[in-house]
Amino acid sequence: MYYNEHTLLFLNGKWIKAAEAAGDLFSQTLHYGNGVFEGIRSYDTPTGPQIFKAREHYERLHHSAKRMNITLPYTVGELIKVSYELLEKNNLSNAYIRPLVYLGANMTLTLTDEVHVLITAWNWGRYLGDKFVRVMISSYQRPNPHSVPVDAKVTGQYSNSILATTEAKSKGFDEALLLDAEGYIAEGPGANFFLEKNGELQTPSLGNILPGITRATIIEYAREFGFPVKERKILPEEINGADAAFFTGTAAEVAGIKSIGGYEFTAPWEDTMAHSLFHAYRNRVTQNEYGDFSVMV
Ligand code: PMP
Repeated sequence: MYYNEHTLLFLNGKWIKAAEAAGDLFSQTLHYGNGVFEGIRSYDTPTGPQIFKAREHYERLHHSAKRMNITLPYTVGELIKVSYELLEKNNLSNAYIRPLVYLGANMTLTLTDEVHVLITAWNWGRYLGDKFVRVMISSYQRPNPHSVPVDAKVTGQYSNSILATTEAKSKGFDEALLLDAEGYIAEGPGANFFLEKNGELQTPSLGNILPGITRATIIEYAREFGFPVKERKILPEEINGADAAFFTGTAAEVAGIKSIGGYEFTAPWEDTMAHSLFHAYRNRVTQNEYGDFSVMV
């Protein structure tokens, strides 16, 4: 699914067949989860494949590496250039791009300076599918920001996401919604959260969440459309009486929520601000409106 015998990936400055690429089983990333990554999408647009907000994603990769004291040996411009080459070499346009920065063999808990950079891509449908999702409030909390940098995409932190997703699926839901350590709504396992209530869009403030690039884009659109939007601490009880809710993320894009726990959203989707934002996102990513953000350097 992720590669076939022709797939080429970028590994430490070289183009290698995915089926022949190898990694060290003693990697500190494999054993202890000390690595950083990104999830990026490219879209087929009238002017060719465009990577959506490439600069923002690679700036976040640099930020994540810095938070984990990892030195990333490529500039943002170089990483963008390699990503376009990757699409071209694999003949991909609508693709999901996965850069991973992983470390060399080290079975101690001290930092290793052997840093590897892998970038690969594959075709991937919308992560949560096209149906409205049924969500449960997870019994798992998002990690405490005083324990790990939750504003960084660190591989090991996704054990929390996998636990929450597994719990939700095992209980018959499609997705989880996690609270932070203070009991406020934080985010999904791999997406940010928005609530539409009393004619206003609300989304958890930064601090206990990954600052999503899609989240920032949706806030930007909402302001442009004149929709009131507030970043605030939201209690799970406040879901009651809301008109709509949705997740945002690179993989999920904008995913409508049908219900959370026992509460079902009943407002007609077409009448919500969420619906307009959903369509704006879809149209804009595929119309190359963000071409300027992905200039090659
Ligand atoms: N939260 C988490 C935990 C995520 O993994 C993601 C996906 N990167 C997001 C939010 C959404 O971020 P973005 O919109 O930048 O993809």
